[in-house]
Amino acid sequence: MRAVTVRPGVANSLNLVEDQPEPAAEEGPVLVEALAVGICGTDHEIIAGEYGEAPPGADRLVIGHESLGRVIEDPSGTVKPGDLVAGIVRHPDPVPCPNCAVGEWDMCRNGQYTEHGIKALPGFARDRWRIEPRFAVALDPALAQLGVLLEPTSVVAKAWDHIERIGHRAEWQPQTVLVTGAGPIGLLAALLGTQRGLTVHVLDLATDGPKPELVAGLGATYHAVPVNDLPFEPDVVIECTGAPTVVLDVMCKAGPTGIVCLAGVSSGGRSIDFDAGALNRALVLENNVVFGSVNANRRHWNMAAQALARADQVWLESLITRRVPVNRYADAYTPGPDDIKVVLEFAS
Ligand code: BGC
Repeated sequence: MRAVTVRPGVANSLNLVEDQPEPAAEEGPVLVEALAVGICGTDHEIIAGEYGEAPPGADRLVIGHESLGRVIEDPSGTVKPGDLVAGIVRHPDPVPCPNCAVGEWDMCRNGQYTEHGIKALPGFARDRWRIEPRFAVALDPALAQLGVLLEPTSVVAKAWDHIERIGHRAEWQPQTVLVTGAGPIGLLAALLGTQRGLTVHVLDLATDGPKPELVAGLGATYHAVPVNDLPFEPDVVIECTGAPTVVLDVMCKAGPTGIVCLAGVSSGGRSIDFDAGALNRALVLENNVVFGSVNANRRHWNMAAQALARADQVWLESLITRRVPVNRYADAYTPGPDDIKVVLEFAS
């Protein structure tokens, strides 16, 4: 069967393998036919050789962690043949740490977790994959091809879950949300903000292309200005760019008791002259919280499925700006100027 693979640590080793062995029985009893795989910044980092790890004993990694497939068989009876499913990305560490022991693998303490298509587990960009029932999330058939958005939505569902848990440390009545970065994660974070009835602002560099309209389609406000020029202090910030100056600016911009969730990942290696003492003062004297958020556990995947089911399907469809068949995989992984979410299609 076909599989999109890389040699981790080697830049530009992306390749479509035609003779990939069928998924091993140890991967789980649920056999799934791949329909689509979403592509994100992590895939680009893996392709650049900056991230990613092959399974033990292998030199290539099948990539793809944003999955959508159709069940072929499940002898355990948890899902039915024909069901649409997505595979949960992260598996708990084998020790397990206190968080993995209770299913909170997104909060793994020892770093020994594994991730499909990223870290030591084969990904979903192959004709067929297998998974254990506890890592298979059945999707509403009405979502159809939009189910491929479940994984990035699970990431923002976790971010919102933790924002709310932190918020409830005291009386909390947030009104204004700032999302920085209008890529798929930023736009889905904004969607979940509007679903909560909050006033949502999205900031990005782009002045044209699809982003301003996608933000307007949510009833949110688009800004293409520096963070410091925004005429308000947000109660909640979800930072999705990972751009060092934006990260620092939003930490300073949040209002009193503000919560800043860092969901974007910086590449590192750049130093900035910055008044850390002033930031410390602002955070302490305003009871502000800055925290990082990555990945998602099963509870968040379920929240994400509910959020997608409630969303305007036409708006969700417009997030997917390119669908590319797997035989043109190289095009799919070549970024285009107006890309939001690019999806690699297997069977349909
Ligand atoms: C994925 C997460 C994963 C993270 C770090 C992201 O692109 O969506 O599931 O935990 O990369 O590997």
